[in-house]
Amino acid sequence: MDSNTDAQRMEKIVSLCKRRGFIFQSSEIYGGLNGVWDYGPLGVELKRNLKNYWWRVMVHERDDVVGMDGSILTQPAVVRASGHMEGFADPMVDCLLTGKRFRADQLEPQQGWVLNFIGAVDFDSFNSLVKEQNFPERSAIWSRVDLAPLLRQIFTNSSWHVDEKRRIGYCHLHDQFVERKEALRALIAERIFSASSLQPFSAMDIRGDRNSVTLSDARQVNPGIIVAQEFYRKRGIRSPVVILTNLQWTEHSTRYNPENGSLLTRPREFNLMFKTRTGPVEEFDQSVMAVSAVGATGPAAPIAPVTASAAESFAQTAGTSVIAEDTSRAATTEEASVAYLRPETAQSIFVQFKNILEVSRKKLPFGIAQIGKAFRNEINPRNFTFRSREFEQMELEYFCRPQRGMELLEYWKEERLKFYENIGISRDNLHVRNVPDEERAFYSKGTYDIEYDFPFGRQELEGVAYRTNYDLKQHQDQSKKSLEYFDEESKERIIPHVVEPSAGVDRTVLALICEAYAEDEAPDEKGHMETRTLLRFHPRMAPIKCAVFPLLKNKEPLVAKAKEIVNLLRPHMFVFYDEAGAIGRRYRRQDEIGTPFCVTVDFETLGEKNPALRETVTLRDRDSMQQERVAIRELVNILTSRLR
Ligand code: ATP
Repeated sequence: MDSNTDAQRMEKIVSLCKRRGFIFQSSEIYGGLNGVWDYGPLGVELKRNLKNYWWRVMVHERDDVVGMDGSILTQPAVVRASGHMEGFADPMVDCLLTGKRFRADQLEPQQGWVLNFIGAVDFDSFNSLVKEQNFPERSAIWSRVDLAPLLRQIFTNSSWHVDEKRRIGYCHLHDQFVERKEALRALIAERIFSASSLQPFSAMDIRGDRNSVTLSDARQVNPGIIVAQEFYRKRGIRSPVVILTNLQWTEHSTRYNPENGSLLTRPREFNLMFKTRTGPVEEFDQSVMAVSAVGATGPAAPIAPVTASAAESFAQTAGTSVIAEDTSRAATTEEASVAYLRPETAQSIFVQFKNILEVSRKKLPFGIAQIGKAFRNEINPRNFTFRSREFEQMELEYFCRPQRGMELLEYWKEERLKFYENIGISRDNLHVRNVPDEERAFYSKGTYDIEYDFPFGRQELEGVAYRTNYDLKQHQDQSKKSLEYFDEESKERIIPHVVEPSAGVDRTVLALICEAYAEDEAPDEKGHMETRTLLRFHPRMAPIKCAVFPLLKNKEPLVAKAKEIVNLLRPHMFVFYDEAGAIGRRYRRQDEIGTPFCVTVDFETLGEKNPALRETVTLRDRDSMQQERVAIRELVNILTSRLR
């Protein structure tokens, strides 16, 4: 894969999506909201076509599936039982320099020279000590018998570089790091530096040479040192001289920010669920809470800010303050009002299993389908809409007897592959990954990921998982309500097993756009070849099915006929009428948004030249650009047969 070309291709796709009204950044006029997207007039049509087709093949065309539409706000008990409260977490790391957050398991292993620092002191104090060391008797500090040995420990067998203009520098201690760190600590305790830090830090010289490491040369100081200076500057040393100890060549590390080389925090689990509150619960009045906590009658006592001594805890506490809460009172009020935005649509299906079973009177195997929004506070939303914080899922929970689980897993994998081909995604760009044991949820006996070759790489479109009866069992145990099925064949009560094909609407929309995006050559008005941008959507998915044009907008009979055709087609499909501009340009505009057919009303339609062509129009095909002459009365039949 040519990464450069693919990055360019993705850029073009994103820009087309905005330019033509498929997808916009949410809250764009206020600077946007990360990981959240709005669909414009064409995007919403594409999305609807996809969802409708999924519903058609998964629900309407089957006897064994019924649908439902569950709520987004979810009782904590549901997500506790499903395991989302405890287990739905990604390991997360933060850059200690910029605070940027990464998913630890998605970092590419790096190699490079790592520079270790034990702390930093302020430039002015350090620079004076450097200058005064040659004349100790004239220095108030070097002349002190208690301090001179400590200073010699720092300055002997070390090298340093100070930039007087920028008031910044580094000091490299070559050996005896433990002893020399103690000496530095003692000097700091004697307050001989006006600012200092003993917070350890390290940085990787991400672009460095494997064979050698240069701390500084005429051109620049090592990027690792620059990163460290910035790190200590952010921790209050305005003009830092950083104290460097050893350097080591490191391979296969994911401890450093791939963008700047700064050390990352250790991975922490980060729950992806959005928590909210229901009912008339306002923010607690913090001052009241604090007063009641300490039992005072006056204003709330100031609360000490959190102090983070270790470098790694910085990111956890930055920007937060601690408020003393009357936890006993808060807990009960809070518990009662907490709700979660569902992280997947599946759980509402499991929770409603018994109700739906009763009303639908289905026998195993049967399925419950749902399309709806899900929310995940993704650490790193990226790749346009691919990983969003708010997205839609199309999920089927297909319940069965345990003996049929593995067989139905294969069946649904094949069905789902067919689905993607039927919406215009080439089989060549689809891949099935058999998820290995160690990556699968512990309760799953088999999972396939259906992946697609996006311009940014091969990524998951859908998961097809055999989830055993884990979910129903969990909900039965926790709710103490029976979720059993009475099997009339065996006269047994069982908790059915389930196979789940779970697809993302937004990811599939993105795959449809990526798959459809093409550039080819077409003649312009004067017959010169030019680049044509088009979206080769499958007609089933295309937002607009047919555009209707009068050849000229100022010829009333042409306009009237074109509008008549629009009214003829409208009950059958989404039609667009356009009379503005040259006909070639109108075709181009439709090509760019993927309209598969264009109908043009011309003078032949009016029978002006050849009476045999009266009541006929040209029907143009987007991909081949071929035009055929068809009778108006045939149009509905021809088009609907091609759109099915
Ligand atoms: P990933 O590994 O990419 O985070 P996942 O395996 O957690 O995905 P599932 O929980 O299996 O995803 O969800 C089923 C489907 O929902 C996915 O295949 C995908 O199409 C969609 N989906 C999941 N998370 C997101 C997201 N953050 N943005 C858009 N779609 C998503």
